[in-house]
Amino acid sequence: MDRKVKPAGSGIIVQKYGGSSLSDLSAVRRVARRVIAAVDSGYRVVVVVSAMGNTTNELLALAKSISESPPTRELDMLVSVGERVSMALLAMAIQELGHSAVSFTGSQSGIITDQHHVAARVLEVRPARIQSALDAGKVVVVAGFQGVSTAREVTTLGRGGSDTTAVVLAAALRAEYCEICSDVDGVYSADPRVVPTATRLQEMTLDSALALGRAGAKVLLADAVERARELGVRLHASATSQVSGSGTDLVPGTVAEEVVGVAADTQLEWVEFLHDSPPSCLSGALRWLWSDSGSMFGLVDLRNLHDLAQGLVHLEGIKSCGRVARVSAIGQALVSDPALCKKALAVLDAEWILHWTAVGAGLSILVPLSVADECQRRLHECLITKP
Ligand code: ADP
Ligand code: ASP
Ligand code: MG
Repeated sequence: MDRKVKPAGSGIIVQKYGGSSLSDLSAVRRVARRVIAAVDSGYRVVVVVSAMGNTTNELLALAKSISESPPTRELDMLVSVGERVSMALLAMAIQELGHSAVSFTGSQSGIITDQHHVAARVLEVRPARIQSALDAGKVVVVAGFQGVSTAREVTTLGRGGSDTTAVVLAAALRAEYCEICSDVDGVYSADPRVVPTATRLQEMTLDSALALGRAGAKVLLADAVERARELGVRLHASATSQVSGSGTDLVPGTVAEEVVGVAADTQLEWVEFLHDSPPSCLSGALRWLWSDSGSMFGLVDLRNLHDLAQGLVHLEGIKSCGRVARVSAIGQALVSDPALCKKALAVLDAEWILHWTAVGAGLSILVPLSVADECQRRLHECLITKP
């Protein structure tokens, strides 16, 4: 985003910094300087922070060492602390640089959610305290990933949920735009850690980004992109290490015709449902359902199932078929052109393909977890790099 042009609208921007951008104290100080650069360009800045580095996983591991199946209310009390550490340290770092700043928890920021612990949905945002602090000339630092439920309990929004916090706040504050800052300088045609030939997209439609996020690309949380689309928030993905330029602009629009990206969801368990319908405790975590030779199968997203510590195999009515990955290529041509779809499937070893579909936003293939990276490289080579 070019910050040299002085803002004309609300003058408010929301910047979100993920855990990878807040790995240690020098990283916190670097983020403080980047925030101040935006203030110096004339913006009023609200910063949403995630927990530092691997903190959330460490907190979850602590819970698991106390209890096999920790109560989700207590899990929320515990993991919400990670973001509070970041918000206080960043507010201090900004103050050290001579600027006025204040930190707020999700509850103090007026983020009201439903009562679904560990995967709560934001129902409403009442940003009165943020607005007054901005009016008083302060930078506001908000703890991402958390809110307060209608029953006045602390809730969290599901893994990666700080992106959602940033988007809903941007909408409530009528911010000029919401910038998701990470360790990568925008959205690439695949995860650059997995596919070294992936290239950055300067612009991407919101629907393509949503499909890529749903397919497992971590860079932008699908839920946040969906909210941005619903609420009309202007989204930009940027590198924390750069103050301006580059990045990816998310623009309104449908899923691209050509293939724009490849992604994999690797947090999945393949299960067979032995009764007519899946158990209700899995409802929010079911990602794909299909039937084959009279049996019903599904993919369960393991990310927010912290209360099922003993594993899905112990749930009545389901049989685990093991961990798998769903590798996807996003582009409507894969749905409308069977020859292209066939060409893509042909670059994979036949025995890897457990199941596939070409509907909606593109092609999705269920493969053993161990070959997920290789499948992404081959699909990218065939559909995007095109030698
Ligand atoms: P943060 O801590 O900032 O929230 P995440 O780890 O959630 O960061 O997301 C950034 C990571 O997403 C990158 O380091 C990159 O490895 C991964 N990633 C996956 N798919 C893509 C993609 N298509 N484009 C860019 N990065 C991607
Ligand atoms: N810290 C939380 C997580 O690790 C939320 C986030 O990073 O957005 O999932
Ligand atoms: Mg993230």
